[in-house]
Amino acid sequence: MQHSKIVGGSTAKRVINCPGSVALVAEMPPQPSSSYAEEGTLLHDEISRFLGDLEYRFTCSQELIQDKLWPALDLLDEIDPDKTMEYAVETRVGFGDLLPGVFGSTDLMGRIGNKAIILDWKFGSGVPVPAEENEQLMFYAAAAMRTPEAKWVFDGATEVELVIIQPPTIKRWTTTIERIKQFEQTLVRAVKLAQQPDAPLKNGDHCRWCSAKPVCPVMTGAVDRAVAIKMDKIDVDKIGAYLHNADLLEDWIKDLRALAEEMMKKGKPVKGWKMVPKRATRSWVKEEDAKVALLQHLKESEVMVTKLISPAAAEKLIKKLPDGLTVAISSGNTIAPESDPRPAVVLIGQQLNAALSKIM
Ligand code: SF4
Repeated sequence: MQHSKIVGGSTAKRVINCPGSVALVAEMPPQPSSSYAEEGTLLHDEISRFLGDLEYRFTCSQELIQDKLWPALDLLDEIDPDKTMEYAVETRVGFGDLLPGVFGSTDLMGRIGNKAIILDWKFGSGVPVPAEENEQLMFYAAAAMRTPEAKWVFDGATEVELVIIQPPTIKRWTTTIERIKQFEQTLVRAVKLAQQPDAPLKNGDHCRWCSAKPVCPVMTGAVDRAVAIKMDKIDVDKIGAYLHNADLLEDWIKDLRALAEEMMKKGKPVKGWKMVPKRATRSWVKEEDAKVALLQHLKESEVMVTKLISPAAAEKLIKKLPDGLTVAISSGNTIAPESDPRPAVVLIGQQLNAALSKIM
């Protein structure tokens, strides 16, 4: 699939919030693909082939079919219970002369009655993606409204439903044609700003997928400030505020390492660093030969270890575990923001000390 070098659906949120990122990202080498990205592409491909030809038989693993594809199709029935939706899959949509070079590809767009539908599949199970005010979906809706081949979706429509299907969940948000047009104006302003030499940079949660993170002056400035803080000079009240930056910094470190590795793999030396083999772990050359040899010295029960599968693995196999078989034991405490739904732990030792110090 081709991607716009300026802004596409998946980068709309970043470009609107940080127009300066367009020039920085253009300087970065292409990002290496990950197994998650490859799995996502495969599943998108499978589901669009199926919806394009209902006789199509999936070719991916049974696990992916059961865990991702059938649940996604079941959730699609919630949108179209009577099977009356006219739809098209994998349609390239763009802004024509309004924003040359700005385009994207919708996973599915459809029409039921007076409602235009723009839908995106998300097959990753990490971060849940909301549909409300979702920049990616609004980008596709606005682009579809300007694309001659997609106009049938919006002709005479009075509302627009944006849908994210991320098995096992579905998120739906209905909005107006006016809201999509407003969004388009915001996008046009951001793209025009991005073309200026002093386009503004602004960090936020849109930095998460930005490939320019390792070299971005906003991020490196934040890192420099964080590194310069000395323990004894820390204002305790500020620690909470600093912790909110920790996620950003962790992402920055991860991306910096990935960029350095990619450069070295491509033969570009990074001063002060080199590639070395990862720690080697030993494995049997041939398990059968090893078993025969070991049984000369050990009992069968010592050689062959059978282990009970974990509750998570069992649940994957039988869906619902019988009651009373499991107990959840935390491996320790960790810090979390106030908004985290888990109750705070009671640190008895410290509270006891504090109480004793008052009566002694
Ligand atoms: S890392 Fe964040 S602030 Fe820096 S260019 Fe990317 S989106 Fe903008």
